[in-house]
Amino acid sequence: MGLTERVAQITAPVSLAQQRRAMAKAITLLESTRPDHRAQGDELLTALLPHTGQALRLGISGVPGVGKSTFIEALGLYLIEQGLRVAVLAVDPSSTVSGGSILGDKTRMERLSLHYSAYIRPSPSSGTLGGVAEKTREAMVVCEAAGYDVVLVETVGVGQSETAVAGMTDMFVLLQLPHAGDDLQAIKKGVMELADLVVINKADIDPAAATRARAQIQSALRLLGMHGNPQRSAHALGASHGHGAGSQEPNAAGQQAPTFWQPEVIQISGLKGQGLDTFWSAVTRFRDLQTANGRLAARRQQQSLAWMWDRIDAGLKQAFRQHSGVRQALAETTAAVERGQLPPSTAARRLLTLAGLADLGQGA
Ligand code: GDP
Repeated sequence: MGLTERVAQITAPVSLAQQRRAMAKAITLLESTRPDHRAQGDELLTALLPHTGQALRLGISGVPGVGKSTFIEALGLYLIEQGLRVAVLAVDPSSTVSGGSILGDKTRMERLSLHYSAYIRPSPSSGTLGGVAEKTREAMVVCEAAGYDVVLVETVGVGQSETAVAGMTDMFVLLQLPHAGDDLQAIKKGVMELADLVVINKADIDPAAATRARAQIQSALRLLGMHGNPQRSAHALGASHGHGAGSQEPNAAGQQAPTFWQPEVIQISGLKGQGLDTFWSAVTRFRDLQTANGRLAARRQQQSLAWMWDRIDAGLKQAFRQHSGVRQALAETTAAVERGQLPPSTAARRLLTLAGLADLGQGA
């Protein structure tokens, strides 16, 4: 099938069934590591790109059992009721280790997956976390080009995967349980500071605990001084947060209106479908504000560049390892480093010189 036909079947299909087939084929092609598939996949991505950018990209994370799939199913059905089309993708770090997937479980989100306005794709089942994250980014392009209004990217927490998902979405949502202590864990792992919105799920079980947790997390977020925190801007989220906490400008009425988003904490019950309105109104306010102040566009720009650099890093490393001179010298050189006979920096420079990358090696 030609490129033009492939693109048309995704962006302007004659039927939903044709679009679904074309999307599945496209994503399979993009997941392939065969060099000829890679080349075709690159062409396809480039052709699809002009059809993207309209969707809202939402990252959702939380520990196993916090209620991610219950919440995503409820949210997805709620959004579909409002006339939106919803795609769900996953970055599943477990799939990179075991080949199996916690998130790809077929029985999850059964009602949503049956809906014609929903598209659910489990995580690619092999590769490094970086590789899986990259495939998910590419699958997002396909979903956006197919006209999905909201792309939900789900991940289970191991620190790195949350950073990866925050780095490919417009808004990062962290699900928490209403027990003291969970928030501290997230803070320790540096995940809390990625969150644009913290959602305390299972509020139906113990409303009082949920309210306490909300207050705790709110004050933790304030203490972290999220927006003044240089780490927050350093992880490829995009927009600079250099204004410091509380940066405000007077609005027309002379009142102080916040010029950027302050992370919020809300309570919901995914199981009972309670709080979905509150959740979606927070997401909408976030999008409106970040669009008006330019942060959304800046975040996307920076994410695109980060994606490019990821690919350059991976490509360079691969070319380096495949270089015949490097392959010949690698075992001996690494052994010499291990024995303490060769300084690591000298070894690196030698290998880089062999690969013809000596100039780059100057900084090593
Ligand atoms: P995941 O591992 O984060 O995807 O969590 P699941 O969505 O599979 O939920 C784990 C368990 O928690 C399931 O038994 C759900 O029925 C239950 N659960 C999820 N959300 C809620 C909620 O809001 N209230 C209550 N009471 N149970 C919930």
